[in-house]
Amino acid sequence: MHNPWENAVQQLEQAAKLGNFDVDMVEKLKHPDRYIETDIPVKMDNGTLRFFKAFRSQHNNWRGPYKGGIRFHVEVNLDEVRALSFWMTMKNAVIDVPFGGGKGGVVVDPKTLSVTEMENLSKGFVAKMFPVLGPEVDVPAPDVNTGSREMDWMVKEFERISNLKFKVSNFKACFTGKSVGKGGSEGRTEATGFGGAWVLEEYISNFKFHPPVGGPNFKSEASLAIQGFGNVGQYFALKAQELGFKIVAIADSSVCVVRHAGIDVKQAVAYKNQTGRLTGLEGTDAHEPETVFSLPVDVLVPAALENAITEQVAPTVKAKVVLELANGPVTPGADKILAKMGVDVIPDILANSGGVATSYFEWEQNMQGQQWSRDEVLAKLEKKITLASKRVFALSKDKACNLRESAYLLALERLSQAI
Ligand code: NAD
Repeated sequence: MHNPWENAVQQLEQAAKLGNFDVDMVEKLKHPDRYIETDIPVKMDNGTLRFFKAFRSQHNNWRGPYKGGIRFHVEVNLDEVRALSFWMTMKNAVIDVPFGGGKGGVVVDPKTLSVTEMENLSKGFVAKMFPVLGPEVDVPAPDVNTGSREMDWMVKEFERISNLKFKVSNFKACFTGKSVGKGGSEGRTEATGFGGAWVLEEYISNFKFHPPVGGPNFKSEASLAIQGFGNVGQYFALKAQELGFKIVAIADSSVCVVRHAGIDVKQAVAYKNQTGRLTGLEGTDAHEPETVFSLPVDVLVPAALENAITEQVAPTVKAKVVLELANGPVTPGADKILAKMGVDVIPDILANSGGVATSYFEWEQNMQGQQWSRDEVLAKLEKKITLASKRVFALSKDKACNLRESAYLLALERLSQAI
């Protein structure tokens, strides 16, 4: 198993070689600004006090406040958190939002906690980290096993403490991913999936498939297979179909459903949300979930978990393009194999950056006391992510490097401009 922090440093060193960057700048990026490790006391329902290990890594703030999610998971550790904070620095620079990179986590299995205990833990995180958080210091967001409910609790606790200490209590902008009624942004739920579809559309207009899919109806001829049909997978599939792509396969953790003539995505979303499964979706054939990787499609879209495409899986891939909607779905070894096979990998730091771009819109609305409409938010997102895609694709042509390298190059260029 690779150490995520070592992977991150390796990716940084590889990309830095392609440009003429200040060596001290690159060295600084290998050392996060600050890590916090603490134990959070939580009053349990049975009256006992239990402590949970928690981390926050503030990687870099040259471009703006540290920004990144808080995950609640049993496997959270410092190396993972600091690697994720590094990737946030890179992602925020690629999508060009004025944020640096941060990430936090708590070692816990949320399924073992009651709602009250989850609330106490979320508020406990804020109480411990209060001195290092703030709308212009460090702005957390949801991540694995946290959502708008946890963010709403966290804002409430932040405002309670700041009111006690400083008699100031309007700090909605300290957290993003809140519920819309509590300062969240319209359009955030669909942002990551929709953003991924716009990145793919821009890719197709920049590069030709080999052999070219070609023709005026190229998008309807480009076939897609999607792994993961949760928030990101569903909204990606809906927008991709609307843009004219043909979705021929969708996998969740139990099944891969296939229809070569194209799946009706709206019907699939309604079916999955009503029944909780994809098995039995009308007009589709059912296969093992892993079948999704080896189907003869143009684009493979991992939108489930990290490390999905391993060195064992990579040689079986028949797609010409992999669009990384999940975070880190292709392992470093698989990345090298896919490159040798001539498969383009559109990296996560570009492909799924629609989420953080919309978090920035939420922060901006909170800072200005505004509430934008869903259409306004999504129009801004489309413009921003299309521009970032154009820059990444142009740089890969200029430097004759792969798309992950060009995304890192763009991030490093922007970071060096910031200092
Ligand atoms: P989610 O929990 O809503 O959905 C995950 C989906 O993956 C589920 O449908 C689940 O059934 C499926 N899945 C799990 N194991 C699988 C397997 N072995 N094979 C096939 N499918 C499997 O999560 P999400 O919010 O859609 O996030 C998906 C990925 O995107 C994660 O890597 C996340 O870090 C990343 N991401 C999410 C956002 C966001 O805004 N939600 C932003 C950036 C990155």
